Formats: sequence, structure tokens, C-alpha cells
Amino acid sequence: MDYTISLTNKCNLRCSYCYERHLNTEYGSITPLTMHKITEFINQRSDAGTIYLFGGEPLLYKNEVKYFCENLKAKQFVITTNGTLLDELFIKWCIDRRVIINMSHDGSECNERGVDRELLDNNLKLLLRYQPETLVQLVYTKETLPRLYENIIYLKGLGVKKVSAAMDAFMIPDDPDSFGDLLREQWRKISGIRDLYIYELAVKKKNIRNHKKSTCEMCKKKLFINWDGKFYPCIQFQNLPAYRCGDLSVGIETEKARKAHPDYSMMSERCEGCEIAEYCRNSCACRKMATTGTVRDISEAACMEEQVQILTALELLSREKGGH
Ligand code: SF4
Ligand code: SF4
Repeated sequence: MDYTISLTNKCNLRCSYCYERHLNTEYGSITPLTMHKITEFINQRSDAGTIYLFGGEPLLYKNEVKYFCENLKAKQFVITTNGTLLDELFIKWCIDRRVIINMSHDGSECNERGVDRELLDNNLKLLLRYQPETLVQLVYTKETLPRLYENIIYLKGLGVKKVSAAMDAFMIPDDPDSFGDLLREQWRKISGIRDLYIYELAVKKKNIRNHKKSTCEMCKKKLFINWDGKFYPCIQFQNLPAYRCGDLSVGIETEKARKAHPDYSMMSERCEGCEIAEYCRNSCACRKMATTGTVRDISEAACMEEQVQILTALELLSREKGGH
């Protein structure tokens, strides 16, 4: 089981696309008692694969991050940070313990997140010095989509080798046709960048090659533990009582939650008959929830993004087969 532990939903930035801000829930952070109980709970189960330490901004609570990395038994630890609070001492601490740091950075357009680009660039370069394979997570919005390729090139210029580029989940295109064309044009250009690992295309290529359908099953392989000790299937469901699947005192109530939500892994109606459905993330409940606020449908923009990425991955595979 992979566990995502949210240390807090507070953050020192204010990204327009922030899931936490859109979830509109009460702000808080983890307490020493909850940390102790989470550690006991996970260690007793002895089944932890990856532990993701998450926020908000988890590095607002560096000591708590260190506590989990030192006390939980897991195969690996991954911290997802906005990078603003990184410092050399902390990075070295993580490297010594093989704790992986993923950092978000949107390229040359950071101002609307409320962050100084120079600070982010410097922290990213510092991180890359110790962890050259850092996965940098970029989010593109309606405003920044026309420059998505340039922003990825910008990151490459800073020395980045691995990028994930995700669309703002709340994106609603003004004109779906021109949005689709722009998306296609940007991803086609991105697919031509040499010596750069693009997470989305790599995953799609792998799924196409292995004929692997991405599946989503409630509380089967992953669990989200909120800073208040309550359990949810995934980040997008935090603080939604209807989707709560246990807590630190009762444990994981998988069956109860599954029975209550038989539609959790369903494909949306728009996907019936779609030829590329088997490579699509259309059954991912977290994505459906993030883009439409329900588990029954995926947004039009997210559907278009899937189509474009699958098509681009298919082209890449055929180019690779052709040897050029
Ligand atoms: S850095 Fe992350 S948690 Fe902070 S405001 Fe931006 S999206 Fe939200
Ligand atoms: S590409 Fe769109 S229509 Fe096709 S399966 Fe994915 S979400 Fe559904």
C-alpha cells in the first residue's frame, strides 16, 4: 500500500490552480499525537510501499517530515514541495537517507503563484546539484498553455532532466476546437525535446506497449491520511464525509466505502465507444473528482488532454519503431 500523509493544508504560496484552495476546507496541521498514531498504524500493518509526504506545503513542518522519514517503515519516501523552503542542510539530510524530493516549478511564469522566480530557480539548481534526477512538476493553465513548450525548455535550461506537465484541473476552455489545436501543437513540440523525460508521455507509452489499462480501486493500493488522522481514498476526497474510509481509531473501512460508492471506478458516459479508452485515465476517481466534482464524469478539457497525450505517445512509438 502507498500512503500519502498530509502534514498540513496550509501553504506559503497562492497558486490559482491549487486543489487545496478549491477544496475550500478548514486549514490545519498535524499534531504530535496524530503523528505518533499514524506511525504506529502504518508500522503495525507492515505493508508500506511508498510514503508520500504532502501538503499544502509540507516543508512548513520540516521536523515533522524528518520524524516520519526516521520512524516509519517503508520502501521509500517522497516529499512533494513547492521548493521555496528548501535549504542545503535539509536537502543533504534527505539525500543521506535516500528520501526523494519532487519540486513544483511552472517555468518562467511563477509570479501569479506569489513566488519570486529567482528564489525558485536557485533552490531548484541547488536541489539538482544533489539530486540530478529530480522530478519537476509543472502545472499549465489556460493563460500559460500557449507557452507550455517554452516553459518546459526553460526548466531544461536550469538543468532539469525529468518533468511532469499537468493541466490545471479546473480548466474550462473558451473554445474547445482552438483549445484542442493548441494542446496538440504544444504536446507535439514537447515530444520532440531531446534528453528530457516527460512523465505523462512515458507513462502513456508504457501503457500502450504493455496494453495496460490504468485501473483505480478504492483503498486497494493507496490511502490518503489527512493531518487530522482521517482516511480518504485520495487527495481530492479529503474532508468529504461521504468518502471517508476510516480513521486512526477504526482503521481502513474499505468494504463500507466501496459499497457506498459503486460508481467510484466507473467510466464516464462520454467514454462509451471511445477507441483509446484502454489507455486513458478516465476511470481515475481522483481525476474525475478534480475536474468535475463528481466521480461519474471527466471534464471535456481533461478528455482532450488524454486524447492529445495518447496520440502523441502513439506517434512517438511509431517514430521509435521506424528508427528515427
Ligand atoms: S504550492 Fe501547491 S499547495 Fe501551495 S498553493 Fe500552490 S498548488 Fe497549493
Ligand atoms: S479520451 Fe476522453 S472519451 Fe476517450 S476514454 Fe478518455 S476521457 Fe473518455
